[in-house]
Amino acid sequence: MQASGRLHVGNLVGALKNWVDLQDKYDCFYFIADWHALTAGYADPSTIKDSTTDLLVNFLAAGLDPVKSTIFIQSMVPQHAELHLLLSMITPLGWLERVPSYKEKQEQMKEKDLSTYGFLGYPVLQTADIIIYRAKYVPVGVDQMPHLEISREIARRFNNFYAAEVFPEPEALLTEFPKVVGLDGRKMSKSYDNAIYLSDTPDAVELKIRTMVTDPARIRRYDKGNPELSPVYQLHKIFSTKEELAFVAHGCSTAEIGCIECKKVLIKNIFAYLDPIWKKRNELVSSPDMLVDIARKGSEKARTVAEDTMKTVRRMMGLMSSNR
Ligand code: SF4
Repeated sequence: MQASGRLHVGNLVGALKNWVDLQDKYDCFYFIADWHALTAGYADPSTIKDSTTDLLVNFLAAGLDPVKSTIFIQSMVPQHAELHLLLSMITPLGWLERVPSYKEKQEQMKEKDLSTYGFLGYPVLQTADIIIYRAKYVPVGVDQMPHLEISREIARRFNNFYAAEVFPEPEALLTEFPKVVGLDGRKMSKSYDNAIYLSDTPDAVELKIRTMVTDPARIRRYDKGNPELSPVYQLHKIFSTKEELAFVAHGCSTAEIGCIECKKVLIKNIFAYLDPIWKKRNELVSSPDMLVDIARKGSEKARTVAEDTMKTVRRMMGLMSSNR
């Protein structure tokens, strides 16, 4: 996960909870991609350190366990950079130029100059991140499949050039993520400024939900609404019980309940969902030494595995450093 902003409830429900479950089935590697954050944020890196710490806190608060999984910081495992460099030697420029997000992001982020070598090479770094652990699976949603395809192509090209099966072609571990809407009804995203962040205080969360967009037809208390048109109801679908959902749907469409009452139920349920995470966050934030220790130990574990792969890669690519 890229260290370029705070984590929100959409990330938690959409990805992080799934990662927590995967820990019991696989040998997982989870990391905070601080170098990736620089590819678009190089001009102002002032928030990267804080984002990295916040992400680590959220990883742990959500239930990622440094005993079960390898949790680390990308820039603390320099082997990723070395493999990125070596893979860049064999990656055709055309492959990178045709990655859809290359042009899309340049269009979307016009305020930034993304015509850089680092930004173009983002998929190569991403490939290095994955294949350096000879990963078999990458947990992704359907929309991220094209990104994984280029990693598979680069791994295949390496194996073909050097006549070796060094890298397995990583496969997608597809997951059905519930789509989480934001406060304005669009997908929850930090770029839309419509998110509930894990670092928000309970008061801030309450205020955000109280002022959330509803079905526009419910202007007055006695106007009947259609819950399906209300982002509040979409969040109820994730956080509320079946009985509460039925109560809200009926109450909204008959105007038996008002939006304030409806939102109170949602606030209660989101609080119950976030409460253990808030408690854990508070504990972690007050123990910065422990966080540093977790990041160090995880990165050390990752370095050992990554170095093992790099020994083979250096040898395959005829480098003197393979003897070191
Ligand atoms: S009652 Fe609830 S679901 Fe219906 S419009 Fe109001 S907030 Fe939305």
